[in-house]
Amino acid sequence: MINKRLISISALLICFFSLVEAQGFSNFFTDQSCRVDLTFAGNHSSTEVFLDKVHRESFWGGPKRLLTEDFVAGDFRFQVIDSASNKLIYRDGFNTLFREWQTTSEATRINRSFENTVLFPFPLATVELRIDKRTGYDKWEQLMSVFINPGDLLIRQRPAPRVPVKVIRMSAEPHLAVDVAIIAEGYTKKEMKLFYREAARLASYLCSHEPFMSYANKFNFYAIAAPSDDPDVSRPEEHRWKNTALGSHYYTFYSPRYLTSPEHYRIRDIASAVPYDAIYILANTDEYGGGGIYNFYALTSARGRTAREVTVHEFGHSFAGLADEYFYEQGDVLDGTYSTSEEPWEPNITTMVRFDTKWLAALPDGTEIPTALPEDEEGLKSTSKLGVYEGAGYKSKGIYRPTPDCRMKTNAADSFCPVCSEAVKQRILMLTQSE
Ligand SMILES: [Zn+2]
Repeated sequence: MINKRLISISALLICFFSLVEAQGFSNFFTDQSCRVDLTFAGNHSSTEVFLDKVHRESFWGGPKRLLTEDFVAGDFRFQVIDSASNKLIYRDGFNTLFREWQTTSEATRINRSFENTVLFPFPLATVELRIDKRTGYDKWEQLMSVFINPGDLLIRQRPAPRVPVKVIRMSAEPHLAVDVAIIAEGYTKKEMKLFYREAARLASYLCSHEPFMSYANKFNFYAIAAPSDDPDVSRPEEHRWKNTALGSHYYTFYSPRYLTSPEHYRIRDIASAVPYDAIYILANTDEYGGGGIYNFYALTSARGRTAREVTVHEFGHSFAGLADEYFYEQGDVLDGTYSTSEEPWEPNITTMVRFDTKWLAALPDGTEIPTALPEDEEGLKSTSKLGVYEGAGYKSKGIYRPTPDCRMKTNAADSFCPVCSEAVKQRILMLTQSE
């Protein structure tokens, strides 16, 4: 009896706080999106951000509550501050292709610029948008500030683009669901039946993999049939450039299997056909490749080998900000990505500088640090034996991962490790306004 009462009181409290949050949201925002296009420019040691355009888009797919969490993932963050009250009303983190380029040798020789976009609910009154760059685990430097007046005549009113959309799965209304916009890349008009089938398969890869499987009833998937003039994607190594919807190509930063698109504004134009929280670009190719950048997009080849594992792995990057847990003993072009003297922000790797902010509390009593790898074959495949194993984030020394294997380490792993799983779960709960 008492338990039942407690449950109903807590249910009432949750309803009450949800209502307060929803009211907080509607005091500041409408149910449309404010999209701000930005140019990130610089070289390996300098970063500048410039305002390009501001758009008002038809749908808002994110949560209808004020987001003001202290810690956000990503090398960058944006903050929206209500000008009249100086109150922080929205904050989220993100990564960019520009940041990855900054770690390449080309960035030591030339300056380049990259497209990027931030998206938040459209404000009712003037807001200040601040773009910050992370300079340490919890240190930030402001790169840009701009005031956005919702009455500004030059805010572009963008109706949803006229592209065919098929709903693959609709579980809940968009504010209470994770909405994934799956966009066709390299499919001609005649190939759209194939695209819809392959988009449904992509959704089923995610929904059959934990922890997405346990939350499948909180996911909506839309297939956006953006047509390409040419089939397939561009392959610079073969001097074959195609005219495709999103302009993607292999050989990003001269890395053979790295398939990305630098045309971020085009991607956002097409994604705005639906309310969305995450973008998944599906490339019409059977060659292994893809990438995932946090709160930016994931891209995968539709029929590559180990397509299911790669699909989930790349979404781990773009959706939950998970780091790669793999490394090579002999070093790697990316092994300068992390400094071992700073704690990385990614939840699933640590340099031990701020291990207290990672999975320290979850370690079983008596766990040796660092933890020696099991010697048997089965133990080496374990995705559940929690410890502090050396080797992760492209480095064999000085960076540690939670378990011997994980979906973020190899395609042979049977699941995410518990730390990655928890990070994915937290992002799902955040976007679906769940407890
Ligand atoms: Zn992991």
